Amino acid sequence: MERIVVLGGGVGGTLVANLVARKLKGEIRRGDASVTVVDERGEHIYQPGYMYIAMGNERPERLKRPERSLLDREVELVIGRAVEIDVATRRVVLEGGRELGYEQLILATGSRILPEEIKHFDTEAHHFYGPEAAQRLRRALDAFEGGRIVIGIAGMPYKCPPAPLEVAFLMEHELRQRGLRERSELHYCSPIGRAFTIESVSEMATPILAEKKIELHTFFNVETIDPDRKVIGSLEGEELPYDLLVLVPPHRGAQVVIDAGLAPPSGWLPTDPHTLEVKGHPGIHALGDATDLPLSKAGSTAHFEAPVVAERVAAAIKGRAPQGKHAEYDGKVMCFFEVGDGKGTLLQFDYDHPPQPPKPNRLWHLGKIVFNKTYWHTVPKGRV
Ligand SMILES: Cc1cc2nc3c(=O)[nH]c(=O)nc-3n(C[C@H](O)[C@H](O)[C@H](O)COP(=O)(O)OP(=O)(O)OC[C@H]3O[C@@H](n4cnc5c(N)ncnc54)[C@H](O)[C@@H]3O)c2cc1C
Repeated sequence: MERIVVLGGGVGGTLVANLVARKLKGEIRRGDASVTVVDERGEHIYQPGYMYIAMGNERPERLKRPERSLLDREVELVIGRAVEIDVATRRVVLEGGRELGYEQLILATGSRILPEEIKHFDTEAHHFYGPEAAQRLRRALDAFEGGRIVIGIAGMPYKCPPAPLEVAFLMEHELRQRGLRERSELHYCSPIGRAFTIESVSEMATPILAEKKIELHTFFNVETIDPDRKVIGSLEGEELPYDLLVLVPPHRGAQVVIDAGLAPPSGWLPTDPHTLEVKGHPGIHALGDATDLPLSKAGSTAHFEAPVVAERVAAAIKGRAPQGKHAEYDGKVMCFFEVGDGKGTLLQFDYDHPPQPPKPNRLWHLGKIVFNKTYWHTVPKGRV
């Protein structure tokens, strides 16, 4: 019996487990292999909805479902926290001591946020990378009556690279609607020399920032917060005052993969860009936020990686070469991008083709809304 253990029941882990289970019913004989998902929460969360909580049109309870309800019935779900991975003996140890042996291990443990790494973040800064934080930001926006809003990034890489720009655009729209725009300044701090990491996206976003009078500060990696002077400081030595501060918190990979010696202290797993195997560890694959690939940490990335991991794991079990269009990952990612005023655009790219975002329009905004609503029936179940 080949035991396939998937760590993490988020986008990547859930989808890959369902795709492997589908292969078990076809190519691989039942009884020859088992699929087990280990998730510490037992609850699947649709994180893109957090941004909409902050913008006032989503509720936390609508963003979660029991993980069991999304998994194929052939997949076993173990609710528990993995605290140890012993690659020598091919075992995962859970909190409480339960051990799971594996022949194939799939790491889909996502990313963690660490606001505490920046002094005074918790008391001074807002963010939208969790449900409570997003609700708190909503309350702060409701109470806002004008002043200086600063949006910045306190560490790269982070989940959903367009999200802080989207929030800037959506906030600017809200301020106009509430008649507060004239009394407010909006500042956007980018850690690099342009508005967005990918040049073509930057070329699309920069004129929109200018048109909306959102001041762009480049090479501004947020490093310090001075709560007395209400000023943030950058790694590059600049300062910027704020009345309302919104920061993307620092992110890291899961502690368990660092402790296992699979990843450096950043927690991002060294991953082959095409096979998605963890470098130097045959039989261990990674997908989603957990990898060190130079791609967006996005659900979409996990979505397009999962069929490749499923194909390669099935091939390993059958002792054949990976085959078909999912034999290797081509870096495909596809994300909707809100620009405010009920408009959006689409970022679609792969390793060889940078995105060419279409002119923002209402359709792409509606596309994002429809995608958010249909997510539960499509992505995790492998129906798109
Ligand atoms: C505000 C916001 C907006 C976003 N917008 C978009 C968007 O528009 N489009 C897009 O594509 N993506 C978006 N994303 C990003 C997207 O949500 C993530 O990239 C995606 O969830 C990553 O999937 P994953 O499977 O790698 O990790 P996750 O979905 O985070 O799942 C990881 C799972 O692993 C589990 N886990 C971790 N460690 C352990 C352990 N030791 N033991 C057991 N279980 C463990 C966790 O409980 C979790 O369930 C957004 C994210 C945020 C926060």
